[in-house]
Amino acid sequence: NRGRVVVVGGGFGGATAARALARLGHEVTLVERDATYVTCPFSNAVLGGFMELESLSFPLAGATLDGMRLIEDSAVDVDPDARTLTLAGGAVLHWDRLVLSPGVEFLYDALPGYDEAATERMPHAWKAGPQTALLRAQLEAMADGGLVVIAPPANPFRCPPGPYERASLIAHYLAQAKPASKILILDAKETFSKQPLFEEAWARLYPGMIEFRPPSMGGRVIGVDPAAMTLQTEFGTVAAAVANVIPPQRAGAIAQVAGVRDETGWCPVSGVTFESDLVPGIHVIGDACAPGAMPKSAFSANAQAKVLAQALDALFRGEEPQSPRLINTCYSLAAPDFGFSVAGVYAEAEGKLTELADAGGLSALEAPAQDRAQEADYARSWYAATVREAFG
Ligand code: FAD
Repeated sequence: NRGRVVVVGGGFGGATAARALARLGHEVTLVERDATYVTCPFSNAVLGGFMELESLSFPLAGATLDGMRLIEDSAVDVDPDARTLTLAGGAVLHWDRLVLSPGVEFLYDALPGYDEAATERMPHAWKAGPQTALLRAQLEAMADGGLVVIAPPANPFRCPPGPYERASLIAHYLAQAKPASKILILDAKETFSKQPLFEEAWARLYPGMIEFRPPSMGGRVIGVDPAAMTLQTEFGTVAAAVANVIPPQRAGAIAQVAGVRDETGWCPVSGVTFESDLVPGIHVIGDACAPGAMPKSAFSANAQAKVLAQALDALFRGEEPQSPRLINTCYSLAAPDFGFSVAGVYAEAEGKLTELADAGGLSALEAPAQDRAQEADYARSWYAATVREAFG
C-alpha cells in the first residue's frame, strides 16, 4: 500500500503534494532545481515598495521534510516504460507514480525582439526573484513623469489577475513617489479578470494614472526594441521609461520531455487523479496542467496537490479515487489595505473539471473601505496558510 512517488518541482503544487503524500506514509522524493523558492504571490507588493523579496523566499535547506527525501537538482529525462526519472547530476530515481509540477516556461520567440537577453532591459518578473528586483530598481530609478508600460499576454497564462494587481501596486508607489508618472497597459486581450473591480479601484485610488488599452484600441504589442525601449503596436510605437513585458507561457520543459505536453503547450489531465491523458503513471498539477476550467494560481495548485495526494493514496490502496470538488480564490491587492477576490468551485464532469454555476463569485462593487481592508487581511492569511502547507 506504500507507493513510491517522485515529485518534480518544489513550488506551490509540487511541495504541497510531496508533503501531503509523505504524511500519508508514502515514499516520496521531491526534486527541485533552485536552492531558494521565491513566491510570485505578493511579489507585486515588492514592486509597490511595501514588502521585501526576502520575506517571500523559502530556502530548500530550511524546509521541514515530513519524512520525504529532498534533492536539489534538475530533472532532465523521463522513461515512462522503465518508470525512471534522470537528474542532471546523473542520479536515476525509480517511481510507481511520477508527479510533475514544473510551473511555466516562457515563449521567448513569440514576440519579435523579445528574447531572453531582452529581459535584462524589459523584465517580465513573472517568475519572482532577480527579475522582480530588477523591475523594482527600474521603477526607483525612473524620473517623475515617466511612462511605465505593462504588456500582458493572451489567455491562458499564470495568474490571470496578476498584471492588473501589478499595475495597481506600481501606481501605489508612483502616487507617493512620482505622482506625475503614468502606467499604460498594452494588452493582448479585450477584457481581463476582475476588470470592473480593478477599474473601480483605479478610479478611486489613482485617478487618471492607469490606462488600459485592449487590442481594439491599438493595445496589442507586435514587437519590442529593448535597446530603444520601445514597443510596437498595430497603431504605432510607444516609448517607455520602464517596460514590463510578460511573454506567453507553456508548461515547463520537463513536461515536453516526459511526453505529457500537447500542441496547446499545456498538459491535458484527468480532473479526478490529475493523471496525464497522454502517458499513464505520470500526473501533472499546478500551472502546467490542463484539467478543465481551473485558472493557473497558487491557490489552484495547492488544491490540486491535496486532491492528487488523496487520489494517489486511494490508487496505492487499490481503491477508486473520489470525484473531487476544488475551490479557487484569487485575491488581488489594489493597495496594501485594499483587496478583493474572485472565487470559483470546480467539479468533475466526464473526467474534466467544470466550473459550477452560481457557486463562486466576485467581491461586491462599491464596497466600503473596511470590506476592502478585510479582504486584504484575508489575502495575507491565505498566503501564510498556503506557504506553510507548501514549505513547512
Ligand atoms: P511553480 O510555483 O512555478 O513551481 C515550479 C517549480 O518547479 C519551480 O520551483 C521550478 O524551479 C521547479 N522546476 C521546474 N522544472 C524543473 C526541473 N526540470 N527539475 C527540477 N525542478 C524544476 N497565485 C495565487 O493563488 N495568488 C496570488 O496572489 C498570486 N499572485 C501572483 C503574482 C504574480 C506576479 C505571479 C507571476 C503569479 C502569481 N500567482 C498567484 C500564481 C502562482 O505563482 C502560480 O500559479 C504558482 O506558483 C503555480 O505553482 P506550480 O507548482 O505550478 O509552479
